[in-house]
Amino acid sequence: MLVTMKEMLEDAKKNHYALPAFDVSNYEMMKAVLETCEEEKSPALLMGLGVDLKGRDLNLLTSMIKGASEFYNIPICFHLDHATDLEFIKSAIGAGFSSVMFDGSVLPFEENAKKTAEVTKFAHTKGITVEAELGHVGNASVGSISETGTDTDPGESLTVPEEVKKFVEITDVDALAVAIGTAHGVYQKTPELRIDRLDEITAICDRPLVLHGGSGTPDDQMKNAIHHGITKINIYSDVLFALNQGLKNYLNTMTNPSTWPFLVYEDAIKMMKDVVREKLRTFGSSGRV
Ligand SMILES: [Zn+2]
Repeated sequence: MLVTMKEMLEDAKKNHYALPAFDVSNYEMMKAVLETCEEEKSPALLMGLGVDLKGRDLNLLTSMIKGASEFYNIPICFHLDHATDLEFIKSAIGAGFSSVMFDGSVLPFEENAKKTAEVTKFAHTKGITVEAELGHVGNASVGSISETGTDTDPGESLTVPEEVKKFVEITDVDALAVAIGTAHGVYQKTPELRIDRLDEITAICDRPLVLHGGSGTPDDQMKNAIHHGITKINIYSDVLFALNQGLKNYLNTMTNPSTWPFLVYEDAIKMMKDVVREKLRTFGSSGRV
């Protein structure tokens, strides 16, 4: 069944674990995430990215996930990742997303707060959860594949704790993405999370906190971040790597191009499931259903 992100994250906050949130771009990624979450008895937090939701694809991907949610005995949330436009958010909610992120993180504080408040006001009348971002999580390497798909990223700016309280008051967001040292995409060097900064935010913010750029961040640092208040960690690049590596392994040795797709994707799905399982267990969301 489809649920909002709010109920998922509130349980995670109360019980001190985090949900890995997986961007899914196609059927195989969806299947790998949902099957593994059900096997692990974890709620499933799936996300869609604008690049996969152009034109009719918005309705196709949403219909597929809504349909699939009836066949799995776990709570499922389908969350719109990194939207920057209220009209698109309205279309996404109309298409069936149960949660949305408005990303105004490159805007000045006042403008980010004002636009986020507009999104929240609209979404809350429909019972939809809103995540926003304060500070900015940059891209690990310009020009690489990233969650945001942009190569014009202004770079990282850490969340300023003094701004958090005011931002939450103005916007009434349900979850807040913070910048504490992670980045989107593939890291060129190991990140060093600013847990001291996270503690300052946790002390004054009663909303669930979100970490973007989870792929490639060392497990001990992510566990520490969860211990200090993070309840959702976004994962894309790690699953993408597994998908493409699995396909590459198979296609490099394939002699007959008229091979069944289920055989072509077999290794890729298994490799994605291993990544998903590892995140569910590391973040403590296994066994919560
Ligand atoms: Zn992100």
